[in-house]
Amino acid sequence: MPDQTHPLFGPHPDWLTFTLAHPTTLPEPRSVTLPDGARVDLTGTGLLQLAPASNDNSPGLVVSAGVHGNETAPIEVLNRLVTELLDGQWILRRRALLILGNPPAMIAGTRFVDFNLNRLFQGAHQKAPYTGSPEADRAAELEAACRRFARQVSTLVHYDLHTAIRPSKREKFALYPFVAGRRFPPDGLDFLAASNVHTLLLQHKTGTTFSSFSSSTLGAESLTIELGQVKPFGQNDLTRFSGIERSLRGLLKGTEPSAGRQGDNVTVFEVIEEIINTGADFQFHVPDDVANFTEYPPGTLIWEDRDHAYRVGDEPEAIVFPNRDVPVGQRVGLLVRQQSRA
Ligand SMILES: [Zn+2]
Repeated sequence: MPDQTHPLFGPHPDWLTFTLAHPTTLPEPRSVTLPDGARVDLTGTGLLQLAPASNDNSPGLVVSAGVHGNETAPIEVLNRLVTELLDGQWILRRRALLILGNPPAMIAGTRFVDFNLNRLFQGAHQKAPYTGSPEADRAAELEAACRRFARQVSTLVHYDLHTAIRPSKREKFALYPFVAGRRFPPDGLDFLAASNVHTLLLQHKTGTTFSSFSSSTLGAESLTIELGQVKPFGQNDLTRFSGIERSLRGLLKGTEPSAGRQGDNVTVFEVIEEIINTGADFQFHVPDDVANFTEYPPGTLIWEDRDHAYRVGDEPEAIVFPNRDVPVGQRVGLLVRQQSRA
């Protein structure tokens, strides 16, 4: 009787089911060499490293999904691409590190277990109250895996894939982490357009997200990409994710979208105002259930406290990530404005 077990995933049919069966520790590292000579290494929980038979100098690709456990669609996209590769449906041409971020939260069907993993990078995992928690340990493990991978490639690109809880006037959008003096590369706009992501928000300061870590510390061209709304495993309309799936497959196969012009379809926003809960009779005039990128006309009163009132300036401004329920001194939301085209 032929051996039915999978060389990487044993009795499990694919990477995702294997990972959910071993959410915290890997039974042992395993690897497989594909018929063309490419190698696939299972190096840790939710960590899969891909090495083509012949290496070129294109940037190493890190793609992460499920840093928030209940954001299932991008997880399913990555899992399908791995299955296609292992099935021999296409030839790998690019070094890649694929990451399923938070398997215990995936099993629980929640965004996170103890702490929001996507706030624990850039060393935040070493600080109280996070240090020693499972998510802090995972952030440290993911940072280490990315550092190891970065040493094997000349340059690095990192796409951290998410789906949002809140509805958005712009269904899919990308966040470009702030790195002083860096400009968004034109081929990045082409990638976004090819992925049906037509909105880019340039962030205004360094954070503790996964993409902030990879861009600030590893010099990667990184993006956090929000691909639509959260649904449980199996309930995603995968046609809504076909753009990102196609462009990621293209990167792995070495058939990148033709450069130039496509990026014109991406609208770029910049941060105008970070709204902070000032405490002193702070009032936020944006409704609780408002969608991301809801636009307000000039003159609209957005927030006020005892001493200040903020009104939209001469051009419309839009709200992203509104959340009034934050402690004094913390961020209530961002006001963003479409960048004028020079
Ligand atoms: Zn997320």
